[in-house]
Amino acid sequence: MTAELDRIAPVIDSLGEAFARSGFELALVGGPVRDAMLGRPHNDLDFTTSARPEETEKILRTWGEALWDMGRDFGTIGTRKGPWQVEVTTYRSEAYEADSRKPSVAYGTSLADDLVRRDFTVNAMAVRLPGREVVDLYGGVVDLATRVLRTPGTPEASFSDDPLRMMRAARFAAQLGFEVAPEVVAAMKDMASRISIISAERVRDELVKLICAPFPRRGLSLLVETGLAELVLPELTALKMERDEHNRHKDVYEHTLTVLEQSIDQEKRLGGGPDFISRFAALMHDVGKPRTRKFHDDGTVSFHHHDVVGAKLTRKRMKALRFSNDEIDAVSSLVELHLRFHGYGDGEWTDSAVRRYVRDAGDQLERLHILTRADCTTRNRRKADRLARTYDALEARIERISEEEELAALRPALDGNQIMSLLDISPGREVGAAYKFLMDLRLDEGVLSEDEAAKRLLAWWAERS
Ligand code: ATP
Ligand code: MG
Repeated sequence: MTAELDRIAPVIDSLGEAFARSGFELALVGGPVRDAMLGRPHNDLDFTTSARPEETEKILRTWGEALWDMGRDFGTIGTRKGPWQVEVTTYRSEAYEADSRKPSVAYGTSLADDLVRRDFTVNAMAVRLPGREVVDLYGGVVDLATRVLRTPGTPEASFSDDPLRMMRAARFAAQLGFEVAPEVVAAMKDMASRISIISAERVRDELVKLICAPFPRRGLSLLVETGLAELVLPELTALKMERDEHNRHKDVYEHTLTVLEQSIDQEKRLGGGPDFISRFAALMHDVGKPRTRKFHDDGTVSFHHHDVVGAKLTRKRMKALRFSNDEIDAVSSLVELHLRFHGYGDGEWTDSAVRRYVRDAGDQLERLHILTRADCTTRNRRKADRLARTYDALEARIERISEEEELAALRPALDGNQIMSLLDISPGREVGAAYKFLMDLRLDEGVLSEDEAAKRLLAWWAERS
C-alpha cells in the first residue's frame, strides 16, 4: 500500500495540503484506497471532503488543470492533473425514502458519516490527507486480506437503502475475484425483487462492468443463484433449465459460460482491453435455445432457428436495458450469424457465400471469427481440431478474396447516378431494385468492369420492362 501511495504522492499530498490550507478535511476514499491495498495502480482518484462544492471548486480551480462539474447536485467536482483524474465529493449522509428510486442527498459532517453509507467494507476505507492516516472503521483491511465482500451494516438495511448494491456485489465479485459473505448472498436472495425500483440504466452500467471484469463467471453465477438474473437478464437463467430429462445433451448454461471464457481468451485479436460487445454476444448466443427446443421420436433434440430467435430476444433485452442502437445491432447480428459458419462444411463454400458472410458480418467480422471459434466446447479433441482447421481455412479464404477485391467496401460496379442515367429513370424504387441487382452480381461473381456491369444491367432492365 505504501508503494502505491508513494506513486500517487505528488497528487494526494499536494491536494491534501491545498485543502488543509483552506481549513478543510480531505481523504482519499473508496476504490483507490482498496486498490492501493491490493497493489493495483489506479489513475482515477476519489476523494471526500468537509468542503462544500463551491469551496472545492475554488480550490480545484487553482490546483487542477481542467475543471468539470460532473454532478454538482451530488456534490462532486472533478479535475485532471497530469495523468490523474480527480473527483472530490462533499461528505454525504444519504437519506433514502422507502421505495424511491433516488437517494435524497444530504451533506454529512464527518468522514465517519460518509463511510457508513458505503456499499462494502473494502470500499469503506479512507486515507486522511495530508497525514496519510488510514481510517478503517468496519474491518475493510481484514476483509480485503481474506478476499470477502461484506456490508458495513446489515446487508438487509444496506440493500433496502439502495438495491443497486446487490448488483454491485456481483460486479465486485467479478472484478476482484472475491467471495461474497454468506449473509450478503442470503440478503440478495431475499431482496432480489427490490432491484425493480432501480433504473435500467444503472442496472445496465453494473452489468457491463461485471461482464467486462476479469472473472465474469463469478458475477454471473451469483446473479443466477440469487435470483437477480431472473429479473435483469432472465434469458441467462432460462439456459440453466435447458436440459432434457435424460441429461443427454450438454447443459447450455455451462456451455455458454465456457464460450464466454473462450471468447475472452481470443480478445487480443481485437487489439484492446475487455470487449463488451464480444463478451455479451458470447453470453447471448444460445438464448434462443429454450424457445426452439424440440424432442424428436428418434431421441434427438433440435433447436431450429435458435439463432434468429436468439437475435430477437437479445434485441429485446438490450432495448429494455437501454443499450444504444449501435450496441444492439452489433450484438444481435453476432447472435444471428453465430451458426452461419457451420454451413461451411468441409470448405466447399462458394466465393459468393464467402462474400455474403463478410458482407453480413460487416464491422463485426473480427468478432464473428472470435465467437464462432469460441462456440466449440466439445471434449472430443479431434472434432475441435477439425473445426478450428476449417475455420482457419475460411479466414484464409476471406483473406485471399480480400486481396483480390476490396471486400471491406463491397459495392456494385455502378453507383446510383450511373444507374439512373443508364436506364434513364429518376430516383425511386426502380433505382433501388437495380442497385440490388448489381450488388447481388457483385457478391456472386466478384469484381466486374463498368462496361460489363452496364451490359448486364441493361439486359436485366429489358427483361424486367
Ligand atoms: P470503479 O470506479 O473502479 O468501477 P469504485 O470502487 O471506484 O470502482 P464506483 O462505482 O466508482 O466504484 O464508486 C466509488 C465509491 O463510492 C465506492 O468505492 C463506494 O465506496 C461508493 N459507492 C458507489 N456507489 C455506491 C452505492 N450505490 N452505495 C454505496 N456506496 C457506493
Ligand atoms: Mg470509481
